[in-house]
Amino acid sequence: MAPSVLITGASRGIGAACARLFAQAGWDVAVNYNSSESAALALVRELEGLGGRAVPIRADVADPAQAAALVGRAEEEFGRLDCLVCSAGVALPQQLLTDTTDEQWRYVLGVDLDGVFYTVRAAVPGMVRRKRGSIVTVSSMWGVTGGSCEAAYSAAKAGVIGLTKALAKELGPSNIRVNCVAPGVIGTDMNAHLSRANLDALADETPLCRIGTPEEAARCVLFLAGEDAAFLTGQVLQPNGGLVI
Ligand code: NAP
Repeated sequence: MAPSVLITGASRGIGAACARLFAQAGWDVAVNYNSSESAALALVRELEGLGGRAVPIRADVADPAQAAALVGRAEEEFGRLDCLVCSAGVALPQQLLTDTTDEQWRYVLGVDLDGVFYTVRAAVPGMVRRKRGSIVTVSSMWGVTGGSCEAAYSAAKAGVIGLTKALAKELGPSNIRVNCVAPGVIGTDMNAHLSRANLDALADETPLCRIGTPEEAARCVLFLAGEDAAFLTGQVLQPNGGLVI
């Protein structure tokens, strides 16, 4: 029986790259999306072409009822979940903390941190019952170092790392591994607002002299999800070209 994974925020970017790599590696994939339905449906058709099962599931992970229903639907489709990948995320334009409104703060914390809590909380009971499973969260280098004018995002992503480490301790005795990927600058829609000059400057600051691809972040996720990482838990893997060491 093929292993199964639910990937949140799989319609675009790093989540979509994860979906492709997991499917290529023989996993059945539940593709969560929120607003990008046509992209999610096209991705599911592409994954089915690889021979495995793929199902699109719409849910806003910031809503606890929708996040619980998302996990329930994925478990129903595949009979169980071997892995949960929490990639859904949003960012604000760079701005001072003092310019950040309550709504903006709640929006970022709601998707980037609460969304991880809600989906993980829903997925854990099934994994504990089977004494088997792995969870990979997606943080950011700003969750490790803090980013100037990125306070809400940095707070949410630091929270994801804390949640990951706490859960690794809590769930290790149940044979469930919990790890995190904290990418540097990756070429996705999240950075589409940056000018060519800004992207070039970020590449110049990076020891490997370029920004990363969604596939390079996804490779770290797939590694942590599977048996090659069987003795790794509570870890934060940082595909960032050396920008943050
Ligand atoms: P992206 O290309 O903008 O894609 C974001 C994904 O998140 C989309 O699939 C989107 O789905 C989904 N999403 C957003 N809000 C959601 C919600 N409420 N419920 C469910 N899904 C939701 O971003 P990305 O660059 O791939 O980012 C993926 C993850 O990596 C995020 O957690 C991000 O913080 C993290 N990250 C990115 C970078 C980078 O440089 N790109 C660096 C470090 C960390 P819909 O379009 O269907 O709404």
